Amino acid sequence: MADQHDFDLVVLGGGPGGYVAAIRAAQLGFKTACIEKESALGGTCLRVGCIPSKALLDSSELYDQIRHKAAGHGFDVGEVRVDVARMLARKDEVVTGLTRGVAGLFKKNKIEWIRGFGRLTSPESLEVDTAEGTRSVRAKTIVLAPGSVPVELPFLKFDHERIVDSTGALSFPEVPGHLVVVGGGVIGLELGSVWLRLGAKVTVLEMAPTILPGMDGEIVKTADRIFRKQGFDLRTGTRVTGAERRGDKVVVTIEGAEPLEADYVLVAVGRRAYTEGMGIAEAGIRLERGVIQVDERFHTGVGNVYAIGDAIGGRMLAHKAEEEGVAAVEFAAGKHGHVNYDAVANVVYTWPEIASVGMTEEEAKAAGREYRVGKFPFMANGRAKAMGEADGMVKVLADARTDRLLGLHILGPRASDLIAEAALAIEFQASAEDIARTVHAHPTLPEAVKEAALGVDGRMIHL
Ligand code: FAD
Ligand code: NAD
Repeated sequence: MADQHDFDLVVLGGGPGGYVAAIRAAQLGFKTACIEKESALGGTCLRVGCIPSKALLDSSELYDQIRHKAAGHGFDVGEVRVDVARMLARKDEVVTGLTRGVAGLFKKNKIEWIRGFGRLTSPESLEVDTAEGTRSVRAKTIVLAPGSVPVELPFLKFDHERIVDSTGALSFPEVPGHLVVVGGGVIGLELGSVWLRLGAKVTVLEMAPTILPGMDGEIVKTADRIFRKQGFDLRTGTRVTGAERRGDKVVVTIEGAEPLEADYVLVAVGRRAYTEGMGIAEAGIRLERGVIQVDERFHTGVGNVYAIGDAIGGRMLAHKAEEEGVAAVEFAAGKHGHVNYDAVANVVYTWPEIASVGMTEEEAKAAGREYRVGKFPFMANGRAKAMGEADGMVKVLADARTDRLLGLHILGPRASDLIAEAALAIEFQASAEDIARTVHAHPTLPEAVKEAALGVDGRMIHL
């Protein structure tokens, strides 16, 4: 009998998890399709997440440097005017270039993009609402990668005009006079930084006792001090109770404090798995509070259905979703996939940036680990001084007995790039001594990582 399947493998969702899974599947010789409902591939990350936010962060960083740092380098630049429309158009161009790039990769790998909303009709079939009508698709293997959406607070509903989620805050038509950010997590601080640099007053209302809860406490404390100096009004331990539109203003009410009047409110209190209306539970797949449950092979326990990315929980990061996409497809092909979650770096793209991999000091303590710490400030790093970017430090945690690297945390210039060395070290189960003995080019920022590793054994040269 002829094979009844249209495809060997179909991915539901074209975000970084889904499109990477599709490309890996095609590489392994699977006849592959990817179902994506939006008009561009790339998911949250490329369309309304990582990429547009970094484009705006880079633009606003440049503006900040011209205004506040150029003079120190010997340049008189006069007045600099912000053209928000042009800045947003540049961001959109970056996004379009990259999403078209994914479409090009699909073509190169002979992956079919089925455009429309898809849902499972059985463990080996889906139907897709396309512009041409409903299309049924049969596949031997299905990878679910539907991603996540912003959490909406019941007492602070989005109006998508003045009370917005991250997508709205990527496209404010003007620099807000006063931007109130609810949630002092990664989105709040990144997008808050963009508009703060461009001239907005930014107040961050965070419920937890500190900003960026869960990151290394010492690093967060230092970052908090630097962000306040930049002009952020950070209010931790603060509970918002509601918001009311009054014309073009929003009045935000806070428990036990005066209400705040804002021009725009960004609500960034986390994201949740997006899994409803796709026939997932109906196919017998287990969901827990909307999160798809999988085993260590990313298998859902039903047929040949796998799931990856933001929709399966864990850290909501593009690189984590990508690695899971590759691993799930490799498992589906009878190979051995692998994601080392200990080596997944976490980056906050403020300035200075914050990047970490492995255990925080609080986690090492809670786990009863005996550890040693090495710390090196960028103040003592030649390159950072030459750049005029000497705020922050590198902090290394190593096992006291074996010297194995447990965690590495960086607050400083280009921390996002510096953390790759630490992720590699954790992946290779390196010791602090391994990093300390590696020759690092001079004068570079990574020398601060080497010095902090030397510091674990009290052998820093430049401090
Ligand atoms: P998604 O990217 O959400 O993709 C899922 C896709 O599936 C979507 O395109 C959706 O349209 C599609 N889809 C869902 N259901 C269906 C259906 N039934 N039919 C058809 N299509 C469907 N992470 C980082 O690592 N670094 C960053 O710098 C970073 N910055 C971010 C900034 C912002 C403002 C935001 C919001 C997020 C950021 N993230 C960042 C997080 C990152 O975007 C996500 O972790 C990542 O996109 C998850 O990938 P995914 O493939 O699991 O899901
Ligand atoms: P987050 O979890 O980073 O931060 C949410 C913050 O809101 C937390 O600090 C939390 O304590 C606070 N909060 C929750 N309820 C609140 C309330 N009622 N009032 C005040 N504060 C409240 O979430 P996010 O910033 O919305 O980002 C969502 C996810 O997107 C992140 O978890 C991350 O995985 C991903 N992301 C990653 C990057 C990056 O890698 N650079 C950038 C943006 C987003």
